[in-house]
Amino acid sequence: MEEKLKELKQQILAGLGKVNSADARRGLEIKYLGRKGELTKILRAVADLSATEKKTLGKLANDIKKEIQEKFAEVKAALEKGAKESFVDATLPGIRAEAGHRHPITILQNEIEDLFAAMGFMVLEGPELESDFYNFTALNIPPDHPARDMQDTFYVETPLNPPLSGGSLLMRTQTSPMQIRAMQKYGAPLRVVAPGRCFRSEATDVRHEHTFYQLEGLMIDRGINFSHLKAVLEESGKKLFGPETKLRLRPKYYPFVEPGANGEYSCFLCAGRGCRLCKNTGWLEVLGCGLVHPNVLRAGGLDPKKYQGFAFGYGLDRLAMLKYAINDIRLFHSGDLRFLKQF
Ligand SMILES: [Zn+2]
Repeated sequence: MEEKLKELKQQILAGLGKVNSADARRGLEIKYLGRKGELTKILRAVADLSATEKKTLGKLANDIKKEIQEKFAEVKAALEKGAKESFVDATLPGIRAEAGHRHPITILQNEIEDLFAAMGFMVLEGPELESDFYNFTALNIPPDHPARDMQDTFYVETPLNPPLSGGSLLMRTQTSPMQIRAMQKYGAPLRVVAPGRCFRSEATDVRHEHTFYQLEGLMIDRGINFSHLKAVLEESGKKLFGPETKLRLRPKYYPFVEPGANGEYSCFLCAGRGCRLCKNTGWLEVLGCGLVHPNVLRAGGLDPKKYQGFAFGYGLDRLAMLKYAINDIRLFHSGDLRFLKQF
């Protein structure tokens, strides 16, 4: 019987070594340790032995039983651990890969480019490092104009361009130099928008930033007058803020237009009734515009007697702040992901 026990033990251990599923393990357990199992039978037989035989065989049988049971528990634990590691819960939400996305100003810029492209305007980009000529002189901005002050403009010193000389270089303070560049390159008639980054030497606060975006617009043709300007700006306002949007133009001086105006759209939030966004005026000031000054046409190489034009400039940061209810302009260049991820 002793040999039979030892043989059975080897058999069980060999069997357990090959087990690779919970069902197979359970099958073996029933076969050997179940109520009618082979090991159980032997253990019962031991109980019927004489007292002396029981003394030696009983201990061996119990040791083997204990060892086998432990081995079964060990295999069970290993199988469960393996099952847990390879288990895939298809109902869990997936881990989303972080995708890059557009900056709020880019979103708005693309939107405005699209709506002007639909009206036959081409989209141009120009240099951020400009010459004094394109940024000021050609735009009818006289040498004593306050915009030329070093307080407002970043002049760039190079050995070839001493600051404040006729040909000095500067970071453009507006996208308007593109009016001249476009006229020189394409002549007339002309329909163009030019979005881009501008720079001013400003102390920053919630409404002022040294780097900001504008979108310049220019249309040149024979017989262009103020009503053309108004129609184009009304149309773009409706596309930007909804079909009920109204345009209001109020006289404002800009050196490169005559006459010049500030453009305001009726507040999209309160429909003109007055709210916090429009500071209870019912209007949102978002652009400057006017009819192109004859001196500017001449600087662009066009004859003001033949051609007339209108120009406008949207402040893209201001538009984005209104559209997305952003209360601090400095957030745009903060690089703060908590801000950027909202768009
Ligand atoms: Zn309002």
